[in-house]
Amino acid sequence: MSTPYWGPDFDALAAFDPDIASVVTDELDRLRSGLQLIASENFTSPAVLAALGSTLSNKYAEGYPGRRYYGGCEVVDRAEEIGIARGKELFGAEHVNLQPHSGASANLAAYGAFMQPGDTLLGMALPHGGHLTHGTKVSFSGKWFNAVQYGVAEKTEHIDYDQVRDLAREHRPKMIVCGGSAIPRLIDFAVFREIADEVGAILMVDAAHFIGLVAGKAIPSPVPYADVVTFTTHKVLRGPRGGAIVCKAEHAKAIDKAAFPMMQGGPLMHAIAAKAVNLKECLQPEYQTYARQVITNAQALTEGLAAEGLRPVAGGTDTHLALLDLRETGVTGKDAEARCDAAGIVLNKNAIPYDPQPASIASGIRVGSPAVTTQGMTESDMKSIASLIGTAIRDEDGSRTAEVAAGVRELVGAHPAYPEPARAV
Ligand SMILES: *Cc1c(COP(=O)(O)O)cnc(C)c1O
Repeated sequence: MSTPYWGPDFDALAAFDPDIASVVTDELDRLRSGLQLIASENFTSPAVLAALGSTLSNKYAEGYPGRRYYGGCEVVDRAEEIGIARGKELFGAEHVNLQPHSGASANLAAYGAFMQPGDTLLGMALPHGGHLTHGTKVSFSGKWFNAVQYGVAEKTEHIDYDQVRDLAREHRPKMIVCGGSAIPRLIDFAVFREIADEVGAILMVDAAHFIGLVAGKAIPSPVPYADVVTFTTHKVLRGPRGGAIVCKAEHAKAIDKAAFPMMQGGPLMHAIAAKAVNLKECLQPEYQTYARQVITNAQALTEGLAAEGLRPVAGGTDTHLALLDLRETGVTGKDAEARCDAAGIVLNKNAIPYDPQPASIASGIRVGSPAVTTQGMTESDMKSIASLIGTAIRDEDGSRTAEVAAGVRELVGAHPAYPEPARAV
């Protein structure tokens, strides 16, 4: 390197802006001191954070490598080219776009590539495990498109493929979307492909939640089946906050044009560089070990919670997350979330399929293993976490909060997030 590295200077921040510096350190303390069980969160590596905090943030680079609307892009071009090549290798993909600022932006671009306002979109209902951007009324996806929604069968709590087929035949959607934010079981992409082919629809897989498990070769890939796969880079995958799109070569032009200039302006080159770093991490053999352990841990956690009287929706999990029905405990999702939070266990209330409660209260909780697995926790730790959650949820008067909090401290003490030496950038 001809120039010295110029990166995050925390002392300068602390000297100039102690208010924000304390937010940064307090948040690190919060991450370290609690159990982070939000299924969509993870801990990025110092290498990813270094790229994210770099001067690449300054560069305007509208367009794509070699075809930019600004001068001086020859250096940042390399970051995007390297990232795209790694994405192709990792996912066996024909085309990769790393520019979407988020998962929602990636979905907006994918819809924009194939649909006009008023066209029909068949997606999974949010209360059944889908996502806001799959056709809910409050999102652009439900406002601009004619959204038809499928769900899970009441009995099995698995995706109701017969319903998907029936709705597709009836409504002839332009696009069919599968994937979601609270689907514990594997999705049968081959069946979705078959249905899409039958009605001439574009099949989009929103792999935001589980793409990390695909990258780690721990679950089957949607890439061979889907016309387009969108995902976030910050969930199991463990990269910077952002989105990405992978598609067949025949759709490359449409997807690129939709990401820019249809939906976005200048790309976040620091985020794209950080995505490239993350993709390199995902190509290492250790990442595959991580992805498998994420699933093993989610399963151990789910079994432990079942033993505490929390019913696993869909009978368990094949992935990094579980949805638990709390009705037998008589505690709502909202109360369970608050009681766990008081003891340093961070998880979220979540609607369960056919939930009798409104979403703001919910009958369930969602838990995920990506972050605690990054910390190095294994099955025995999951059993301890399950028992702590069981105690916290039943603790009506808060008399056992201190005891649960002590259990949390012991676990995170043995497996610290961002241990001290890694702080030095
Ligand atoms: C998280 C998620 C998104 C949205 O990602 P953002 O980065 O929050 O916009 C989209 N789809 C699914 C299925 C998700 O889980």
